[in-house]
This record gives sequence, structure tokens and C-alpha cells, in this order.
Amino acid sequence: MRYRQLAVGFLMSIATNYIWNIGNSSSSEARDVQTKTAQAIPINPNLDSSTNQLPSLLPKSVVIERLSFSNTGQLLIEANQTFSYQGKFDLVSGTYKLVITNAKISPNFQRPSLAANSPIERIRLTQAGNSVEVVIKTIAGWQVREIQRSSNQQVKLQVSLNSISQVKPNSQNPVLPIDNYPNNASINTGDRRRGVIYVDAGHGGHDPGAVANGIQEKDVVLPISLDLGRALQNMGYSVYYTRTNDVEIDLEPRVALAERINADVFVSIHANSLAAGNSDISGVETYHSRNSPVGRELASYVHSQIIAATGASDRSVRGAGFYVIAKTSMPAILVETGFVTNPTEAANLDNPNYQKRMAEAIARGIDQFMHVRGK
Ligand SMILES: [Zn+2]
Repeated sequence: MRYRQLAVGFLMSIATNYIWNIGNSSSSEARDVQTKTAQAIPINPNLDSSTNQLPSLLPKSVVIERLSFSNTGQLLIEANQTFSYQGKFDLVSGTYKLVITNAKISPNFQRPSLAANSPIERIRLTQAGNSVEVVIKTIAGWQVREIQRSSNQQVKLQVSLNSISQVKPNSQNPVLPIDNYPNNASINTGDRRRGVIYVDAGHGGHDPGAVANGIQEKDVVLPISLDLGRALQNMGYSVYYTRTNDVEIDLEPRVALAERINADVFVSIHANSLAAGNSDISGVETYHSRNSPVGRELASYVHSQIIAATGASDRSVRGAGFYVIAKTSMPAILVETGFVTNPTEAANLDNPNYQKRMAEAIARGIDQFMHVRGK
């Protein structure tokens, strides 16, 4: 349920920067094809010329009528009749290309009105001979994939951050139940003017991060990150997530996306570990990029709030060269929320109440920072 609600927010945020290149040639192309085919068919001289029956002898073109976003944040392409299609996502160029044969673009083609902050750079519809091509280009780290069709008169696409658990495109495009909503869509709700916060849950998928006391870092930093995002949204911030489920995402797209959306703050959530024999050590460390006084300021606000709210031992604000805080241009911090190698802290990190307290403290620290920075 939560993801459905969030997806609506995502829907509202799809961008103005779509390029709509809908070929004027669509209807004339279709006419050319009909004319040529018509010449190849013997004409019955007795045919009443006022009722031109020739088109009924030809295969009827699929008319692409509408491109829209569903109320679950999915991109929909709808036609006047059932059709099949070929779709392919190219990770290297970040483009998804969909081809519908024996189709044309409706002269009354409808497209959605769009807002800011889209993970999609552009969408182009073109008439290529007898086919309609739809090309969707995403920003770095994002992908487009096909999801189950609820009707053979439409194509459903999901735009989301790259995931290793991709749904395999099905060449048969079968009609399937629609209750399988993928939950790894990244989200953006709230008022962009209030501020844009990028929430980066560490690790994920095949990369568990620190593991000890029966706890995997990736599993505790995710709920903290989701709680953090929720708290920030309640404060009115616009929030983006690296991941909202258990998927592996490289470090580069994490930074690239934060840059692309022009985030005001980047916050990465991690948990710590130490080698055997150090299980007595616990506490919170908040990192900023070594050469960033602004990052240090952000780290100080957040760190103080965490220590006050959780009672965790204070292992201080520190400078470091971690990739995600070193490569981001906006104020960025990495919070080591505790040591999974310490049994008590591991239990805390695994506790939903503690996770929420931690998340809300981080949100308050970010909010303080934003106010001081005049946001
Ligand atoms: Zn980590």
C-alpha cells in the first residue's frame, strides 16, 4: 500500500523536459502504404466509388492514441485495438526502444502534462514506415522495463532505478493480473522549493555490507532510510531514494542521480563493524567529505540529534574520503548508525522503534541545517 501511495507522488513529479517529437508524416506515411497496396489489388469497375471498400481489404493499422501515467506511477501507451510489440532496454545508452508494427500515431494523440524532476530525459514517438517507434531515454542509473499488461490494447512500463532483479521481457506480452506492482520505484513527493533530499540506503542485493550477530547491514539501513524519507516528506521535503527494496546499486549511479536531481542534501545510511575481539565497541559516527566545511556543518547537526535521541555512544563527526560523500557536489554525509558487531547495538539496529528514532533524529538534523542555510 505504501508504495502505491508513494508512486502517485512519483507520478506528479515526472518532468517538463520531455521532448515530444511526434512526426507530422504519420498520416501521409499511412496513406502512401495504402495507395501502393491498393494499386496491387485488382479494382472491380462495378464498385460504387462513393463507398470505398478497398481499405477493408487491407490489414487495419493499430492507432496509438495516448501516452499517460497510471495512478500507480506507470507509463502507459494505449491504442485503439489489441497489438503486440517488441521492447528493449539498452543499459549503455540508457534508452528503451519499443516498436509497434502496422501502427500509426493518432492525429489526436494525447500526452500527459508534466512537472519537474523527471528521471526521464526524453520520450520520442516517431512513425518509421509502417511502424511506430517509442524511444525513452532515462538519466544515469535509471531504467525502463516492461511490466504485466492488464489489456492487450496497452503497454505498461515502469521507470525505476537499475535493479538486478529485473522482470524478463516476455515476447508474447501475455495479459496477466495487475496486482504485482514492483516496489523499487524511486520516489519524489513534497515541495521542491522546500528542499530536495537524497536518501542513500547503503549496500543491497548481493552486497550485504557488515554482517554480525545475525544481522546484515543492508537489512537495517533500508528501514532506517525509508523512515528517514517519510519523516522528511512529512516536513515537506522532496525525497529521492537510491533504493526502496533489496537491490544492489553501484556507487556511481547513486552519485549521478543525486547530481541529476540537484539535491540540496545527500545522506547515506550505513552500519559499522569491527573485527572479532572488538564486540564491546559501539556508537555512532557521522562522516563528511574531508574538504567540505558545509558537509561538516550538516554532519554536526545530524550527529547531535542522533546522540541526543538514541543515547548511543558518541564516536564523533569525522572527515573521510568515502566515494558517495567525496564525489557528490552538494553537502553530503554518511551516517554509521551503529556497530552490528556489538550485540546490544545490533539488537537496537534491528528494532523498528530504534530505527524510527534514529531516522527522525537524522531528519531533524537535516531540517536544522536547511533552516540555517536559509531554505
Ligand atoms: Zn556500509
